[in-house]
Amino acid sequence: MQLGFIGVGNIGTPMCRHLIEAGHTVLAYDVSADHLARIVNLGAQAADSPRAVAQACDIIFSSLPGPREIEQVALGEDGIIEAARPGLIYVDLSTNAPATAQEVCAALAEQGVIMLDAPVSGGVIGAERGTLAVMVGGDLKTFETCKPLLEHIGANVFHVGDIGSGCVAKLINNMLAFINTAAASEGMALGTKAGVDPHKLYDIVQASSGASWAMNQFPNKVFHGDFTPGFTIDLAYKDLRLALEMGDQLSVPLLMGSICINLMRQLRANGAGGDDMSSLARVVEDAIDWQIRAPQNM
Ligand code: NAD
Repeated sequence: MQLGFIGVGNIGTPMCRHLIEAGHTVLAYDVSADHLARIVNLGAQAADSPRAVAQACDIIFSSLPGPREIEQVALGEDGIIEAARPGLIYVDLSTNAPATAQEVCAALAEQGVIMLDAPVSGGVIGAERGTLAVMVGGDLKTFETCKPLLEHIGANVFHVGDIGSGCVAKLINNMLAFINTAAASEGMALGTKAGVDPHKLYDIVQASSGASWAMNQFPNKVFHGDFTPGFTIDLAYKDLRLALEMGDQLSVPLLMGSICINLMRQLRANGAGGDDMSSLARVVEDAIDWQIRAPQNM
């Protein structure tokens, strides 16, 4: 079976690598020549367009920034649709708007292509380790066909429901992760400014009822003042914006999410959109002129 992979950035690269290491031949495409060269070094072959990938492959994966790029890759000039044929499967691993996933799926379906939306969670570290959660929307039979491949990428592969439902689950998950990160930052700033050792406070919270996945970012990132991505604030902002749009469409108030998107807006306005999502802590730090650092481990 010939596989394709479009978009080999921070998280696409390790996901694609797992497919190569599982023994599959993978034809890759990326607008960035550097990113494409990196995956070729890891054993992929290079294509010069999404159409070329679609022409040669049975199943195409993609990991792209957001709705605009997914539409372009799937339906744009030199896109997958130009080589569409019955039997071709397209699995989008990006975090997309549910409505865009549905629109792209419908357009491809007219040409016989079946699309699944299959966003992932667990970060670049989870992708490196192959432990991601994968949440899939779309045709159940096609899901069963793709599941063994997705199990190379993730440790927990879920079928959520119809096309777009994977993205719904993912946007809810990310909204919670961002809100938890902002809340953990406030707690850590207050506790450390009150004189408690950062590592001790971290250990206590993670063993207590305030524990969260978001806290995991402190020892490796915030304590060291290391805000290199990982997962950028720009991408997190895109996800939270999509979640708030869903809230708007369904008349669901999202008070915590609204606060959190304003913290991200502040970072982006200060030129930190390309920094890691853990830099939400810096908004709290800057407000009180205090840094949550643990220099003994630096
Ligand atoms: P990234 O920006 O590092 O990677 C995106 C890749 O897509 C880049 O290599 C870019 O050159 C390429 N690209 C952009 N436009 C393209 C086009 N038109 N055609 C082909 N390639 C194109 O982003 P990332 O962090 O790897 O995230 C990718 C997706 O995964 C996003 O939707 C993100 O929300 C999601 N995600 C990321 C993480 C994470 O921790 N990084 C975690 C979960 C989900």
